[in-house]
Amino acid sequence: MSGHGHDHDHGLDPPRVEEVSDGVFAYIQPDGTWFINNAGFVVADDGIVAVDTCSTERRTRAFLDSVAGISPAPVRTLVNTHHHGDHTHGNYLTHPATIIAHENCRELMLESGIQHYDRIFEPADWGDLELAAPTVTFSDHVNLWVGDLKVELHYIGGAAHTTNDVVAWVPERKVLFSGDLVFNGGTPFVVMGSVAGSFDAIDRMRTFDAEVVVPGHGPVCTPAIFDELEAYYRFVQDAAAEAKASGTGPLEAARQLDLGRFAELTDTERIVGNLHRALYELDGGENGGPIDVTAAIGDMVAYNGGKPLRCLA
Ligand SMILES: [Zn+2]
Repeated sequence: MSGHGHDHDHGLDPPRVEEVSDGVFAYIQPDGTWFINNAGFVVADDGIVAVDTCSTERRTRAFLDSVAGISPAPVRTLVNTHHHGDHTHGNYLTHPATIIAHENCRELMLESGIQHYDRIFEPADWGDLELAAPTVTFSDHVNLWVGDLKVELHYIGGAAHTTNDVVAWVPERKVLFSGDLVFNGGTPFVVMGSVAGSFDAIDRMRTFDAEVVVPGHGPVCTPAIFDELEAYYRFVQDAAAEAKASGTGPLEAARQLDLGRFAELTDTERIVGNLHRALYELDGGENGGPIDVTAAIGDMVAYNGGKPLRCLA
């Protein structure tokens, strides 16, 4: 991990592979903060399905090395749970795998391209990234087969973390790869999705009756996490209602807000972006409708004392 003498790991624990069910693996990257996501993979003798890549070239190469250390089979199919760069920047390193995602994911990736987020986040060593958008898209659901194990991909049904959230569900093993519909230990982030829609997404995730949830960030968990997420979204909605009643903007409202137990989550500045989204919805904006994301993120930087956001990618 520490090639070339650079201190790339920021003192973080190294990524780890966890076999959550026979042949079904979670790739967990501590500490789960900005751009440090989880991935996964399902292994059969004749090929592998991977779930998401990583934010930087270095992290994705380490992920694919870990996959190769488990099985010599090729990665035939890559699933993107949504369009965000931490889950898709490394797509190109799986070439010639088929990349499959929701149709909005491809559209947004082509629209935004590779982003380096200068001035918003602390600088990261992104590597030589190349855009590799999904080559197969779907609108509702599709099944993949890994040997004789079925992996169901389901669009969650509406805006939540983004407008293109897909879960990978392994029914025979009751394992749910949730993407960023679940942050475990980190502050949820719905500025590009919907607060209201996040409740619907949680309801939908509950219907799978999973035993294991592989979140988009943070340690492997169980459906008990859904209660935590709901509590956070309710907190955001309540704070937005108070802000609206007193005519306070999202940044000022966030500054005055006592995060309570949610202060223990990482990346707490996301409260500002989430309030932008919640206030838009209180004003009648539809789930996933357009808001000024640049302004929302600018307010997160302001909340952070005007400093770029902590990024250990
Ligand atoms: Zn995301």
